[in-house]
Amino acid sequence: MNFDPTEEQIRWRDLAREYAQEEIRPRAARLDKEEKFPYDIAARMAELGLMGMTVPEEYGGSGGDFVAYNLALEEISRADTSVGITMEAHISLGCSPIVNFGTKAQKEHFLGEVIRGGERLWAFGLTEENAGTDAGGTQTTAELKDGQWVVNGSKKWITNGGTDITGGVTAIARTGTRENGGPELTAIIIPQEAPGYTRGPGYEKTGWRASDQRPLYFEDCRVPEENLLGERGRGFVQFLQTLDGGRVAVAALSVGLAQACLDEALKRAKERRQFGRAIAEFQAIQFKIADMAMEIELARNTVLKAAWLKEEGRAFGCQASMAKVFASETAKRAADQAVQIHGGEGFMETSAVARYWRQVKINEIGEGTSEINRQIIAQSLFEESPQEAKAKR
Ligand SMILES: Cc1cc2nc3c(=O)[nH]c(=O)nc-3n(C[C@H](O)[C@H](O)[C@H](O)COP(=O)(O)OP(=O)(O)OC[C@H]3O[C@@H](n4cnc5c(N)ncnc54)[C@H](O)[C@@H]3O)c2cc1C
Repeated sequence: MNFDPTEEQIRWRDLAREYAQEEIRPRAARLDKEEKFPYDIAARMAELGLMGMTVPEEYGGSGGDFVAYNLALEEISRADTSVGITMEAHISLGCSPIVNFGTKAQKEHFLGEVIRGGERLWAFGLTEENAGTDAGGTQTTAELKDGQWVVNGSKKWITNGGTDITGGVTAIARTGTRENGGPELTAIIIPQEAPGYTRGPGYEKTGWRASDQRPLYFEDCRVPEENLLGERGRGFVQFLQTLDGGRVAVAALSVGLAQACLDEALKRAKERRQFGRAIAEFQAIQFKIADMAMEIELARNTVLKAAWLKEEGRAFGCQASMAKVFASETAKRAADQAVQIHGGEGFMETSAVARYWRQVKINEIGEGTSEINRQIIAQSLFEESPQEAKAKR
C-alpha cells in the first residue's frame, strides 16, 4: 500500500497551499465581516487552474485527478471555507454533472466556452422549499413545448447561484410521472440569460458569508430542447452520483477547517501563559491537541481513501458518506476545542477560531445531512454481498 501522493498531486496541493496562505487567509476575516464575494480571488484561482481541476483538458480544464482536487480543496478551505465552498460547488456540483452526463457539444459549449472561456461559475439547483433531504419532492416542472423546455418553479440556497460571474445552473425538474406514480426527474441546463429566469437576494448566514447562496425563480423560463442533460428521467440517479462526489469534497473542506483550528490552537497554546507557564505545558491542553491531531489524521485518510476509490472507478458511495460524517464531526469537535483552548479570547469575533466555530456547523448539513449519510452507511451494511446473491441463485 502506497500512502505517498504522486508528484502531480503534491504539485496541486502545494500550489493551493501557497496561494491560500499568502493571499486568502490574511483576508478571510474581513471578507466574512463584510459578506463580500471575492471576485479577484475567484479570478486568480481560475488562472491558476484551481477552478477547473477535474474538468478534462480538452474542455479547457486542468485535468487534475480527484485526489489532487481534494488535496487542493483542503488547503483552500484551511484558509477560508467561504472560498472553499465556492470552489467545491463550482467543481463538484456545477461542472461534474456536465463532465459526467453532458454530450460533446454541451461540454464544448458550457465547460469550454462559457465556464473556462468566460471565467464563469456554474451552480447546481436541487433544493426547494419542500424538497430538502427528500429531493424526490421536487415541484419545479419542465415541459417540452415547441422544441423548448419551459421551466416553472423555484430553488433555494443555491451556491454560486447569483454572482456577477455565474454562467447558469443545472436544475432538477419534474418532467412527468413514472409508472410507479413517483416523479420523473430530469436535469436541465439553464444559462443565466434565459428568459424567465431570475435570482433573489443573498441570505444572511451564520457562516460561508463570503460565498453566494440565493433563491432562483423560473417563470415560463425557456431553454432549447438540447439543454437536457443526459437522459430524460435520469435526474434522480444523476444527482445521487453527483452528491457522492460532492460529499468527499465537503469532507475535504471539513478537514481543511479542522486543520485551521489545530493551527490556531497550537499557536495560542504556545503563546498564552498562565501560572507562570505556557498553557501548552498543561496536560489538559496537550490532550485536547493530541485528540484534534489524531482525528484530523483519521479524517484526512478517510477522505483520501474515498477520493482514491472514485479515481480508480470503484464503488465509493459508502466511503463518501463515512468521510462526510466523520470529517464534518471532526471539524465540529476541533472548532469547539480550539475555542476552549483560547478561553474568553475564543469567544471574541476578533479571533479566527470564533469564525471557525460559526462556520463549522453547515458541514453536517449541506450535500446530505449526517442523518442521511448514516442511513447510507447502514444500508450498505445490510445489502446482500455478491456471494450471498450468488448462493441464492
Ligand atoms: C449554505 C447552504 C448552501 C447550500 N447549497 C446548495 C446548493 O448549491 N444546491 C442545492 O441544491 N442545495 C443546496 N443547499 C441545500 C442543502 O443541500 C440542504 O439544506 C440539505 O440537503 C438538507 O435539506 P434541508 O435543509 O431542507 O433539511 P430537511 O430535509 O428539512 O431536514 C431537517 C432535519 O431532518 C432530518 N431528516 C430529514 N429526512 C430524514 C430521514 N428520512 N431520516 C432521518 N432524518 C431525516 C435531516 O437530517 C435534518 O436533521 C444548501 C444549503 C445551505 C444552508
